[in-house]
Parts: sequence; C-alpha cells; structure tokens
Amino acid sequence: MNATTIENPVVLCDECTCGVANDDWSHLDMHNPRDAEEAMTTIKASLELYGRLTRAGDADMPGYFGCPLCGETQCGGGHLHSAAHAA
Ligand SMILES: [Zn+2]
Repeated sequence: MNATTIENPVVLCDECTCGVANDDWSHLDMHNPRDAEEAMTTIKASLELYGRLTRAGDADMPGYFGCPLCGETQCGGGHLHSAAHAA
C-alpha cells in the first residue's frame, strides 16, 4: 500500500484537531457555553459518521475552508486526517 495515499481524507480546523487528538472538547467552552453545546452536538454526529480520525499531517489549505466536524469556517491552515469511513 502506498504510504502517501490517505484514505477518506478530511481537513479539520485547529479546534477540532485538538479535540480529536486529546478526546477532550472542553476548550470549546472558552468561547460561549451555549454555542459550545450546539457545536458539540454537530461534532458528535459528524464523528459518528467518520469513525476514527487519524491525524495525517498539515493540510495547508490555501484559502477558506469549512471544517466538516464543527462546520466552522477557517482561513488557511487546517489539519489533514484520515477517517475510518467516508462521510
Ligand atoms: Zn472544526
């Protein structure tokens, strides 16, 4: 198998990358607890679709992109992950 091939690639924002890496989403509360609760509902539903997410490196997106987990828009950067399932 080609090591450079990433199965079901998904690009996550900084916050979701942190949450996935540590399995801890408490940092979302720092902004607004009510928003965080809504965000968690979205994120958990997305996580169920994707299954296990494994970090595969920096995505280095050239412009704005929507994070498929939380739905937030981030400008540039991003973190490439390999998902267990295609969403
Ligand atoms: Zn996100």
